Amino acid sequence: MKHSYSSLQNLDSCQQLYLLENIKKVRSRHRPLYFTIGTAFHEFIGAWHMGLPHEACVKKVDEEFGKIDLSLLNAEQTADFHMDWARVIGMASAYVERYASDRDQYQKFLVEKHAEIELIPDELYHGYIDVLMQDASGAWWIKETKTVAASTLTEAYWQKVKIDNQTLGYAFLAKKILGEWPVGVVYDVIKKTQHRKRAQETVQQFCTRIRNVYAGKEADNLFFRREYLLNRTDLKRWLDDYRQKIARAAEMRRNQHTRWTMNTGHCLKWGNPCGMFAICMGGGEIDPVLYKEKDETGSKKEDAANSKAASDDKQGGGPRDAADAGSKRTASVDGRGRPRKRKSGGRKKVSK
Ligand code: SF4
Repeated sequence: MKHSYSSLQNLDSCQQLYLLENIKKVRSRHRPLYFTIGTAFHEFIGAWHMGLPHEACVKKVDEEFGKIDLSLLNAEQTADFHMDWARVIGMASAYVERYASDRDQYQKFLVEKHAEIELIPDELYHGYIDVLMQDASGAWWIKETKTVAASTLTEAYWQKVKIDNQTLGYAFLAKKILGEWPVGVVYDVIKKTQHRKRAQETVQQFCTRIRNVYAGKEADNLFFRREYLLNRTDLKRWLDDYRQKIARAAEMRRNQHTRWTMNTGHCLKWGNPCGMFAICMGGGEIDPVLYKEKDETGSKKEDAANSKAASDDKQGGGPRDAADAGSKRTASVDGRGRPRKRKSGGRKKVSK
């Protein structure tokens, strides 16, 4: 059985969420926009690390946003969609300009590397690492890039980064990929701005303005980088914790756990509804208009995207960015705000 940072996060957060998302493989047809924003940003940066030209990096963003079914968005969400698309390109373009010297400072880059490790017999932990960089001395570094709401970036945030489970997990995966331990982490944080597209502005003009904001005099208050070394104590703690988490998940699955509890304290985390909100609010019924079941297509990429979204800050997006996370209100109207006809097929009830 395979486990990931995001699946174990789900189990920690709410057993019902783990059952729906990781065992039944239920997926919302209406993916919250913050997932796309995070994935598109990381895709742009990854392409840049691979040495691709700017147009090819932009194309990566276009591909991610192109996966969104615009017919599921109302007029307001469609406007946000275009604005976020432009915002990602503007922000990422400024990011690669700011850190252009990375290409000289580091001699080798490995991008989007996957690995799996056996933490307890027959149970695997797996994940994708965005970027591994080798410096001139031959030492390897994990590069992490996060976008956060301005209010999030406190000194406590930076303290917590050093014990972050996702990054410590990357260290174990990196060891498997490289055959040696990475020495540390280069941690980049980008603050989200509240700039919005003006009425008279085109999407392209807004994109240029965002790039200029991030490349201009505000830049030092928008981009932050810290480097830190990994240490044995934190790595050992992670290993013990994750062996225990995985043993618990495996046991719950093996014993066909019958009562998956609902942690309602997690339903509105970050101010946005959980992706399974409509199911839980509907007494466990899975509406086929809103959700796909046993969706394994692209599950590897999806898992990586979920991991990124699980750790990227989602607070800056606001309720509209979440596109109501599959709420009935959102998906029951078409692109012009008209009521959408339901497909036949009926609903299924989730067994708890
Ligand atoms: S909506 Fe709440 S109870 Fe339901 S899966 Fe999500 S977090 Fe759990």
